[in-house]
Amino acid sequence: MSILLSDQDKISCKTHKYETCIVADLNTKGKKDVNFLCIKCLLKQHSNQKLTLIEDTKKLISQMKSQKMEKQTKENEAKRETFKNVLSQIKEFKITLDLTFDKMTSFVQQ
Ligand SMILES: [Zn+2]
Repeated sequence: MSILLSDQDKISCKTHKYETCIVADLNTKGKKDVNFLCIKCLLKQHSNQKLTLIEDTKKLISQMKSQKMEKQTKENEAKRETFKNVLSQIKEFKITLDLTFDKMTSFVQQ
C-alpha cells in the first residue's frame, strides 16, 4: 500500500490541487484500493455545509472587507462629485446675479 512506502512520499489529493491527504477511507466496497481524502474532501463529505477551513474563512472575510471598502470609496466619490456640481451651479448662479445687478445699476444710472 502506497501509504507505507515512506513518510516523504505524501499522498496527495488530485481533486484539490494536491493537498496532502490526512484521512484514509477504509470502506473499499466496489473500489480497488483504499480511498485517501484531504481535509477539503472530508468537509465536502460532511453533511454540515457551514463547515469551512479557517484559511478559507480568513480569505472570505478579507474579501468581504475589501468589497465593503471599495463600496464606501465609490459612495464617497459620488458624494464628492455631487457636492462639486452643486458648488459650480452656485458659482454660475452668482455670476448671473452679478451680471443682472450690473445691468440694473447701469440702467438706473442712465
Ligand atoms: Zn481533496
